[in-house]
Amino acid sequence: MSNFRKIEKIFTNNQQHWVGNGFYVRTYFPNPAEGLSLDRMSPFVLLDYNAPRRFKGTNGQVGIGPHPHRGFETVTFAFEGKISHGDNKGHTGVIEPGDIQWMTAARGILHKEYHEAESAKQDRVLHMIQLWVNLPAAYKMADPNYQAIKADRMGKIRTDDGGCEITVYAGDVFGTKGPATTFSPMNIYKVKLESGKTLTIQEPVNYNTGLLVLSGEQSVNSEKTVKGADFVLFENNGKPFELRGISESSEVFVLSGEPLNEPIAAMGPFVMNSYEEILQANADFQNGAFGHSDF
Ligand code: MN
Repeated sequence: MSNFRKIEKIFTNNQQHWVGNGFYVRTYFPNPAEGLSLDRMSPFVLLDYNAPRRFKGTNGQVGIGPHPHRGFETVTFAFEGKISHGDNKGHTGVIEPGDIQWMTAARGILHKEYHEAESAKQDRVLHMIQLWVNLPAAYKMADPNYQAIKADRMGKIRTDDGGCEITVYAGDVFGTKGPATTFSPMNIYKVKLESGKTLTIQEPVNYNTGLLVLSGEQSVNSEKTVKGADFVLFENNGKPFELRGISESSEVFVLSGEPLNEPIAAMGPFVMNSYEEILQANADFQNGAFGHSDF
């Protein structure tokens, strides 16, 4: 028997697609082709990853215009490049490298997401994640909310020799808390390792757990070598998993959360508990109940 949390599968989704004209993403889940259903990573419903990509300078808008969401949260992590956000509840902001922006759509919001206009005039690299976090049924029709969290507010853990650095966005990792407020228990963090450094992480038995490699190469459980844009899905067997740096420097993004164990119905930009609620969301959007779109 291995002493480690077993790897269920490792895959790289090479089916990239555009979101608007500004985000060229791989969707890791949901992903029926890889056996990841809508609830396999609950409370996380969708993971879109724009691996580092060079964009040409332009004076035009690069991204996606006003569109609705209901029933969940969109969380944007910028690693390189700047992303502008605006919504019809009056929130605006720029997500800079290291920042995150946590938008609780709940009962309904319209937002738009663009490369920040000034930086978009130059050639640049964009490296970002958008994660969709499901809301428990009790909060799906709550008021929308917006958390703009700057890089300097993240929880930070560094070993004395600097060989391991953990950035905590949400939850509690080795006693260090992340700044994001969440509606269900979850841990979201980034682990940076130098070559040869090892870190062993114990997540709760029942938490759905996976990681995405952002850069470099690492060994997982002294068993598999993973590299940029690989996603590792773990079984829920309660043991710790182990990371070891192989490249000079490497980073992984870890997601671990308590499953909501509620029915999921999802269509386009809406994530609800039943198909009737999806139809209602669509009708409300068509009837203008999400509010004005001139922002
Ligand atoms: Mn959106």
